[in-house]
Amino acid sequence: MVHFVGAGSGAADLITVRGARLLGEADVVIYAGSLVNPALLAYTRAGCEIHNSAEMTLEQVMEVIRSAEAEGRVTVRLHTGDASIYGAVREQFDRLEALGIAYDVCPGVSSFCGAAAALRAEYTLPEVSQTVIITRAAGRTPVPERESIRSLAAHGSTMVLFLSTSLADRLEGDLLAGGYDAGTPAAVVYKATWPDERVYRCTVGTLAKTVADNGLTKTALLIVGNCLGEGYERSRLYDPSFTTEYRKGTDT
Ligand code: SAH
Repeated sequence: MVHFVGAGSGAADLITVRGARLLGEADVVIYAGSLVNPALLAYTRAGCEIHNSAEMTLEQVMEVIRSAEAEGRVTVRLHTGDASIYGAVREQFDRLEALGIAYDVCPGVSSFCGAAAALRAEYTLPEVSQTVIITRAAGRTPVPERESIRSLAAHGSTMVLFLSTSLADRLEGDLLAGGYDAGTPAAVVYKATWPDERVYRCTVGTLAKTVADNGLTKTALLIVGNCLGEGYERSRLYDPSFTTEYRKGTDT
């Protein structure tokens, strides 16, 4: 059996209760060492075999799982944040299916949620944006052309950019060309929820400079949109005049 577990965005106590339990029961753990906080390995039991996938290929990961499986041992594949976001898990799922190896998935706190907490932000503010675009700038890894930053920027929604810190120069140009004003609020969150977390607030027009001035190259999210600004409408849900399934408002 293989459990894919989301490690959470950094802080060791941000893993789910289920994830921590699965780690404690595992015979073999393969963790994404480039981003998973090694403090999480403290949840494993003595004698657990630990592998760092940052130094491994997909084939090597599969071989570790296959041989553990052959001995009836349980593997936890520990991914940073939530495995569904840039986790390269589908290719693992498909290989496990082909090998007839059972697996399941335990969700985790993605770094985009960790960053919202660090910013004390609500990404979906009434009358500001009801949409969060999670994307990345094209670099060595391509992005489909129809998902270009320019075209996504045209929505003016909240945008969270993964894997793009080292591409901030071009990114800033594309965000502006796509339709965000230079004064649109933005932020860079470095190592959200880690002990050395840093939050830099800026604007779209100063995004690249903020990244450069602070020497940020990786493990950061760029967040853009008026949800980081001042204006918004209060929610209907908690408005005294608004009737809901659970509460009678003054509008009836
Ligand atoms: N599955 C992960 C994302 C993996 S892609 C998740 O759900 O968060 C790796 C990228 O995620 C990094 O380049 C960085 O852009 C972002 N990232 C991961 N952890 C982060 C953190 N704690 N703070 C800021 N960005 C983070």
